[in-house]
Amino acid sequence: MGVRGVVVWCANYRCSHWVAISADPWPDQTPLSDIEERFVCTACGGRGADVRPNWSTKGRPRATAGR
Ligand SMILES: [Zn+2]
Repeated sequence: MGVRGVVVWCANYRCSHWVAISADPWPDQTPLSDIEERFVCTACGGRGADVRPNWSTKGRPRATAGR
């Protein structure tokens, strides 16, 4: 993927918890959908997530779902 980090959003939009994690533990061939299925939210305990490449380690991802 060429991405060193990913941002994982909770699939539960009411939770909208997100965390930026390193992609180093996974092989480059690991599909993001595979990570989405395995991820368990640490905030609400829900399964499923929306994984996006974290191109910048400085900027924060923008919340697009409003509040
Ligand atoms: Zn959550």
